[in-house]
Amino acid sequence: MIRNVISVEQAVELILKQVSPLPAETVHILNATGRVLCEDVRAGRNVPPFANSAMDGFAVRWQDVAQAGSERPVTLKVLEEIAAGYVARQAVRQGTAIKIMTGAPIPRGADTIVRVEYTEPAGDQVRIQKVDGAGTHIRHAGEDIQKGQLILEKGKVLTPADIGLMASVGKSRVRVYRKPTVGVISTGDELLEIDDSPEPGKIVNSNSYTLSAAIEEAGATPMLLGIVRDKRRSLAAAFKKALRCDVVMTSGGVSVGDYDFVKEALRDVGVRMGFWRVAQRPGHPMAFGRMGRKPVFGLPGNPVSSMVSFLLYARPALLKMMGHKNLFLPVIRATLEHDVRKAPGLKEFTRCTVRYDRDQAFASSTGTQSSGVLRSLSLAQGLIVGREEESLLQAGTQVPVILVNPQDLLQRELGF
Ligand code: AMP
Ligand code: MG
Repeated sequence: MIRNVISVEQAVELILKQVSPLPAETVHILNATGRVLCEDVRAGRNVPPFANSAMDGFAVRWQDVAQAGSERPVTLKVLEEIAAGYVARQAVRQGTAIKIMTGAPIPRGADTIVRVEYTEPAGDQVRIQKVDGAGTHIRHAGEDIQKGQLILEKGKVLTPADIGLMASVGKSRVRVYRKPTVGVISTGDELLEIDDSPEPGKIVNSNSYTLSAAIEEAGATPMLLGIVRDKRRSLAAAFKKALRCDVVMTSGGVSVGDYDFVKEALRDVGVRMGFWRVAQRPGHPMAFGRMGRKPVFGLPGNPVSSMVSFLLYARPALLKMMGHKNLFLPVIRATLEHDVRKAPGLKEFTRCTVRYDRDQAFASSTGTQSSGVLRSLSLAQGLIVGREEESLLQAGTQVPVILVNPQDLLQRELGF
């Protein structure tokens, strides 16, 4: 008889209720991409800072050139030439022009730019054959951004454009939510380090690497704390050390086997356990607890289970700690290409590929769904979600699919 089993939704809710954003830190804007703003950013200056030319051409007085046409060009005396980065020494007066490059400040007296394509040089003069209109091709001071204007709101996930925007108003440092450090521990007597020679009965610890990569992808900082053997005391000692991090993440040893001591060892070091079974497959055993404000995830040992549980529970928690509001992976609806059988009573996540055919998404299983087969996840772009009450998802029906690798999907299938 299985007791204390909770649903996926309950597990997500319970976990998210217990984690909150970390305090802010100040970082250089170059280290702020993808981070969440923890302040409102106002412009410290105008953008552009001064009126400047949007074209290579001539700065003129509209009055002087209003009548210009190819039949009747207007000839003006060229006083000087200004490149971007320099300021004209003279003012444009009646009958004169100043040659100007894109980005150079508009000289005093000028109110219009004539693009170079509409002109013809004539010694120290220029013939104007056409004008786009009064006041054209001038970018005015503060046209994009006015000093004091709110340009980025607290809570925004910073993009490269935001980083440039801050640079343009002279803001080099910014307040963002701190990234959690996540102590990653793999448990199991059978585990070898990646560079160890093969030994009978032993397998390489891959979970530490999968999880570390996933933590990094989520934007947090993984700390690899190695392998710990299935001994309650060794586990407790390792967990105690790991609790220096903001989050603890273990894999393996949370099931009902004779050597599954992770839950007990977590209790030994004072972690308050919340639950440890979720009605799902893969990833049925999954322990969650808390030490003060620090979340502790006891992920299952099977490589796919551990990653699916990470995506469902740990990833949203890490994102919330980093101040994100959008915590979940995107979900699309796709047409199933074949029947999928599932265990009733559990929510099942079937690894699948997703292909698009004229804007319609189609999902098909990546093959064996054994929770030990990491390749099924490596090949996958999505997880088909089979609800508890279902036992058969029928070919041709629409199913929800959680996208686990949307980059890959868009590049390979939409290809525009
Ligand atoms: P456990 O949850 O400890 O019973 O482990 C379940 C299965 O996952 C076993 O076959 C383990 O060998 C495997 N496993 C546990 N930890 C890891 C790991 N770090 N890397 C790869 N496989 C693992
Ligand atoms: Mg184990």
